[in-house]
Amino acid sequence: MNLIMLGLPGAGKGTQADKISSKYEIPHISTGNIFRNAIKNETSLGKKAKKIIDSGSLVPDEITNNIVQERLQEDDCKQGFILDGFPRTINQAEALEHFMDNMDKKLELAIYINVARDELIKRLTMRRTCKNCGAVYHLEHNPPEKKGICDKCGGKLIQRSDDKKEVVLQRLKVNEEKLKRLIDFYDKRDKLAKINSNAGIDEVFKEIDRILKEKIL
Ligand code: AMP
Repeated sequence: MNLIMLGLPGAGKGTQADKISSKYEIPHISTGNIFRNAIKNETSLGKKAKKIIDSGSLVPDEITNNIVQERLQEDDCKQGFILDGFPRTINQAEALEHFMDNMDKKLELAIYINVARDELIKRLTMRRTCKNCGAVYHLEHNPPEKKGICDKCGGKLIQRSDDKKEVVLQRLKVNEEKLKRLIDFYDKRDKLAKINSNAGIDEVFKEIDRILKEKIL
């Protein structure tokens, strides 16, 4: 099962991708996480990506496309994968189509999670992330048991530098127009499933699961 998650930053792509990944045993590939790990490990990619990510802009397509192409060739992607945060531009969508063709892989579905803009701003600015394991919390809706400490690993919870309000606004601006074009791209290929995400995490997952069963399984 080869899937893509589409949606603006904060829509819950990562959270839902994690759930799909656990249930269907396919790897969750998040380009944002790949970049954040590279930054943490101070690799040459991390050094290039840090400034771009901190400003809320996009890492150049050429770099991002190569990373995903290599990742999809790894063994654990043989049974399928779920991409989160990629593609973000039409150039990336075309590159993905091209390298999936070359690998004889077929995209089953692009799942688009639609959330109102005001809600996204609230979610992102109130999001806290574990510095150690990347687990995500929300100060109101999903707070950790102990303030500032990750329930899963005891790591310190921080606000991602790109979750600060001014950067959030810039990220939304950068992504909104591009997302419209991606929605159109997958709709034309009859691969789009749209989900309105006003409900909680579990309800949204139930809806995604229902669609997967109806359309793919
Ligand atoms: P995310 O965790 O998906 O919100 O990604 C965090 C940041 O990583 C984005 O704001 C971009 O700067 C960068 N990034 C992640 N995925 C991509 C992508 N597909 N293309 C370009 N930049 C990306």
